[in-house]
Amino acid sequence: MADLGNPQNTIDILQKYNFHFQKKYGQNFLIDTHVLDKIISAANITADDCILEIGPGIGTMTQYLAEHAAKVIAVEIDDKLIPILNDTLNNYNNIEIIHNDILKTDIQSIADKYNNGKPLKVVANLPYYITTPIIMGLFEKQIPIDSITVMVQKEVAERMRTCPGSKDYGALSLAVQFYSEPYLVANVPPNCFMPRPNVGSAVIRLTKHKTSPVNVKDKELMFSLIRAAFNQRRKTLANALNNSSELSFTKEEISAALENCGFNCNIRGEALTLNDFAKLSDNLKR
Ligand code: SAM
Repeated sequence: MADLGNPQNTIDILQKYNFHFQKKYGQNFLIDTHVLDKIISAANITADDCILEIGPGIGTMTQYLAEHAAKVIAVEIDDKLIPILNDTLNNYNNIEIIHNDILKTDIQSIADKYNNGKPLKVVANLPYYITTPIIMGLFEKQIPIDSITVMVQKEVAERMRTCPGSKDYGALSLAVQFYSEPYLVANVPPNCFMPRPNVGSAVIRLTKHKTSPVNVKDKELMFSLIRAAFNQRRKTLANALNNSSELSFTKEEISAALENCGFNCNIRGEALTLNDFAKLSDNLKR
């Protein structure tokens, strides 16, 4: 039975092992059973699923995951947490603890070894300092993944799911929406964690698209355009693309492409949808 998701049991474990939180690892452990239930239900876990958990901490969510899934692979960087996990997860025979940095972990091998190469579901209360590299790594490396259900900083969840017209709209929104369908599961206040983070949090589910929502000839070029547009978001799109060190189009080529796409020459990148960026990219590619 899962028994860690309450403050007293967490305190007992921390005291037993004289564990001190490491800020550099983004350690804010969940101590609210309602939030844990919400995450598990939003992740649509079935008894056939193999789950990749990033940063199990003392194993609180890992226990919940192991109760619902066929297998849980938990990757934890902090060596002080490994003996604790071996203790708290001792009663489960469907959990594999991997002591490693998730950014250096070969996740394809995990899918191959533990799930016959079939898609994993990723579930995590993420260390916030590396949210974007983790998510983008999972998408860009083309690892077999069904969905990613994660706790992130509230602002980051907003950036992931927002559309043109919002101040939060940017390169992360476009990248996340290129690869997945975002769904905001719940906002989570600081008092659901120990220690309390000084930012709000949210659970977001990113369901990977089976087929891409846009057709684009050169994905790399499209993302270079997106990066250039939002690196200088106060500038017009034409100027931002012209100033970018990543791109080598002339002013004339950029103006012509904007015109071909039917965009005003003073338009800013923040007004363009994913489809618009794909169209512009294909136009410049010709
Ligand atoms: N899952 C636990 C919970 O909900 O209570 C802990 C979540 S805590 C926000 C983030 C966890 O990620 C910590 O256990 C931390 O040590 C771990 N972590 C931080 N950086 C990591 C990395 N690069 N690779 C793997 N784990 C990491």
